Order: sequence, then C-alpha cells, then structure tokens
Amino acid sequence: MEPILSINNLTKNFGHLTAVKDLSFTINKGNVYGILGPNGSGKSTTLGIVLNVVNKTSGDFKWFDGNTTTHDALKKVGAIIERPNFYPYMTATQNLKLVCKIKGVDQSKIDEKLEIVGLLDRKDSKFSNYSLGMKQRLAIASALLNDPEILILDEPTNGLDPQGIHQIREIIKQIAEKGTTILLASHLLDEVEKVCSHVVVLRKGVKLYSGRVDEMISSHGFFELKANNQEAL
Ligand code: ADP
Ligand code: MG
Repeated sequence: MEPILSINNLTKNFGHLTAVKDLSFTINKGNVYGILGPNGSGKSTTLGIVLNVVNKTSGDFKWFDGNTTTHDALKKVGAIIERPNFYPYMTATQNLKLVCKIKGVDQSKIDEKLEIVGLLDRKDSKFSNYSLGMKQRLAIASALLNDPEILILDEPTNGLDPQGIHQIREIIKQIAEKGTTILLASHLLDEVEKVCSHVVVLRKGVKLYSGRVDEMISSHGFFELKANNQEAL
C-alpha cells in the first residue's frame, strides 16, 4: 500500500477548546476516505492543518513517502475547502484559464476537466448563470487542473438540491475510479456510505472509528456508534 497522507497523534487547540484530539489515520493510494462527524467535530480543522492553512498544536502529518515537503506535496493536491469563488461575468472557460495562470498549469486540460464534471456543453456560459450544483462542479474541475494525486473536498454537497447532490456524488465516484485518491469531509453517513471506501468517524475531535466503511457497517459496534451520533449518522 502506498501512503498518500499519514496523520499521527494530531491535536489542535483553539484556546481552551480542543478541536482535534490525538488523531491518527492513514490514507492510501486509491482510497476514497471520508471524515464523518457532526458540525464542530473537527473535520474542517483537520483538513486545514494538512493543507497548511491552520497551525497544529502537536502531533504530525506526513504527505506521500514523508520525504516531500508540505509545500511541494500540496502541488499534487486539489482542494475545495470553501464555497467556490469565480468571476461571475466570466465564462467557465475564462475562469479556468485564469486558474491555470495563477497555478502555473497548462491550459490544454481545461476541456478534459470540464467534461469530467459534465460542463463541457456549458463552458461558454457565464458563471453567474450557473446553478449552485454547476458552480460546485466547476470548482471540482478547477481543483483537477493540476492532475492532483488526491482531491480534498469539504462538505461538497452542502446546500444542493437532491439532483445536484446525486450529480456531485457520481462525479466523485468517477474521479476515484480513474485512480485519484479522495478525502471527503461530511456530516452525512449517507454520503460516506454511498461514496467512500474508508472513513474516520469524529466526535468532538476524538476518533470513534477508522477503517473500511463496509466493515464499520457490518460491525457490532455500528449501531452503538449510530446511537451515539444521532446528529451525524
Ligand atoms: P467541523 O468542520 O467538523 O464542523 P471544525 O473543524 O470547523 O468542525 O470546528 C471544530 C471546533 O473548533 C468547533 O468547536 C469550532 O467552533 C472550533 N473552531 C474552528 N475554527 C476555529 C477558530 N479559528 N477559532 C476558534 N475555534 C475554532
Ligand atoms: Mg466543517
């Protein structure tokens, strides 16, 4: 197994509040790894730490074989951790060209990425004319422009209608099938069950489970876990 991200005893305190406590899990190549837990359980904080936008308090994380600096590793990561932000008066293609310039990546892949998210036929529409689901799909296309080894998504279906939710989940599955590792934070068990191969379950920053999703669901402890996590599961 080829490690993509190893998290070891990671802790993050915000003043008196411990947002992430002694967290360990490893994502291997090809995993579709979920971070599951109710609001406030430390999902976004964990993503922020490994993406170098939040400072850890203690513990460690290692990208790839551990010989890559975080700065270099992040060039091989695609991430959407906030609402997609594009220029409303520009088309999808124009917006992605700008992203390519900023990221310093080749513009020749734009159509290929728009195709993956089902937006190729709408590439010349202005961003402001896109539905919320289309905006989120464009954000995924944008995150794929550097051909990342791993795609990180924080609550990718939040706020979408059922059709939009279904489309995003299908796109994530297709991206995973083509070999991209995925890390997905969600408060929905349903989402993790449908999309993920592996999961770490968090409650108030503490790990309740990590491992395969199918093993979690078939394990004796699952219903107890469910009962203790009504909010999230
Ligand atoms: P989740 O993404 O699972 O909803 P978060 O990681 O956003 O959870 O938050 C975990 C906890 O840390 C919450 O109690 C939240 O209020 C707190 N928190 C997150 N970011 C900050 C911050 N910048 N300052 C203070 N507290 C924070
Ligand atoms: Mg969050």
